[in-house]
Amino acid sequence: MARTLLIIKPDAVAKNVIGAIIQRLEEKGFGIIELQKMHLTRAQAAEFYAVHNERPFYHELVDFMTSGPCVPMVLEKDDAVPFLRETIGSTNPEEAAEGTIRKDFATNIQNNAVHASDSPENAAQEIAFFFGESAAG
Ligand code: ADP
Ligand code: MG
Repeated sequence: MARTLLIIKPDAVAKNVIGAIIQRLEEKGFGIIELQKMHLTRAQAAEFYAVHNERPFYHELVDFMTSGPCVPMVLEKDDAVPFLRETIGSTNPEEAAEGTIRKDFATNIQNNAVHASDSPENAAQEIAFFFGESAAG
């Protein structure tokens, strides 16, 4: 079994689709190991997305991620990292496959409903960021 981090972003929380997204994840076979609802500070959002700090959309991304509460969670499944990326779909919902979470719940390329870790190394780091080293499994 492997673990990964998913965040239900502020746009999806504001749309009242926390439950609908969790239902999709459970139907796909993910177990929920940790889950919390929280409002990121600017410092936390800036640190979490530091890898993008040279990108033109970085400041708007930090604004968006601090615009309301979000729901980070640790998910567990065989091949959790690549399988979750497949389950959420492309960054841009216009390019996301039918039946993916972003296809069905995202608004646009920025307000795209969810975050998911993109490698096992980043998953461990991102899980530790929210839930401590011990949650990385
Ligand atoms: P992903 O979330 O699919 O891993 P990235 O790591 O490339 O995508 O980007 C991180 C987040 O930054 C995206 O989920 C999205 O919220 C935002 N983002 C990415 N590209 C753009 C863009 N061109 N314009 C605005 N926001 C973007
Ligand atoms: Mg990414």
